[in-house]
Amino acid sequence: MAARKKVRGKRDRRDRRDHGERLRHSRPLDPFDPVDPFEPLLLGAHVSTAGGTPNAPARAKAIGATAMQMFSKMANRWAERLCEDEECRAFSAALTTTEVRATAAHDSYLINLASPDPVLRARSLASFEAELRRCEALGMQYLVSHPGNFMDDRASGIARNAEALGIALERVPGRVVVLMEMTAGSGTAIGSTFEEMATLIDAVPPPHRERVAVCVDTAHIFAAGYDLAGDYDGVWSRFGDTLGMHRLRLVHLNDSKTPLGSRRDRHELIAEGALGERPFRRIMTDERLVAIPKVIETPKLDDAETTDRRMLERLRGYVRSAP
Ligand SMILES: [Zn+2]
Ligand SMILES: [Zn+2]
Repeated sequence: MAARKKVRGKRDRRDRRDHGERLRHSRPLDPFDPVDPFEPLLLGAHVSTAGGTPNAPARAKAIGATAMQMFSKMANRWAERLCEDEECRAFSAALTTTEVRATAAHDSYLINLASPDPVLRARSLASFEAELRRCEALGMQYLVSHPGNFMDDRASGIARNAEALGIALERVPGRVVVLMEMTAGSGTAIGSTFEEMATLIDAVPPPHRERVAVCVDTAHIFAAGYDLAGDYDGVWSRFGDTLGMHRLRLVHLNDSKTPLGSRRDRHELIAEGALGERPFRRIMTDERLVAIPKVIETPKLDDAETTDRRMLERLRGYVRSAP
């Protein structure tokens, strides 16, 4: 009875950390499970879906991941597809054999919901809708999406992007939360400042705004001018003041090949780029970020499994060696 009470306490704590969102793939509690399902480190990588989405969980498992991101289609093609029941069942079955507790899909790079070109915007909206439908079908928790490029005028672009998000969420009801990813701010990209991201989210119509939150990519915000290496606490306090920490649902852990404020998005291995080791040590041991899933999108080099394993081991080492 005492043990049961303790378990319930842990569950409550975990529920609060998840901001009320239920982890759909969490398994029933097993006291002999080597990984404590209510105090997990949600850490993983973007994994390949080569051969079909049901192959992705095994790749996550092979690197010891507890969080996973993937594409649900070819990210650089317009061609759309549905997830048939058989695929969805196979994906869910594969996922239950892993320790993965947090799942995200990343949308296609071609989508530009902020475009002033009606043809491109319509195509982007249809494609984004299909992304959402696949996420719902596969039971993914999050759909990560880059804010678009405004092309003509920034304020109009933000308005178009927010309107399109509202339309897509209206057309695809469900539980998937759209995470708008902070951008490096190259060209006319929207979403490279916390203020602009807040403006974008606030412009999404209220019933659907609840299903929109934020993904911070460490390499992108560094390239956008947020100095996580030199002013770690300052950056997060600005995030908290502008967007609110409750809006942060996913962190992409990437070092940057390009310097602070370069506005160029080039990912580097953890602790081997311009950010260096310190900010990653801080993130891995930051109380405020402990329940936030974290995934790497670092170069895979010759062998994705070996390299990702090495990166995740490096990150877990920061937790273990924390004072
Ligand atoms: Zn991204
Ligand atoms: Zn990213």
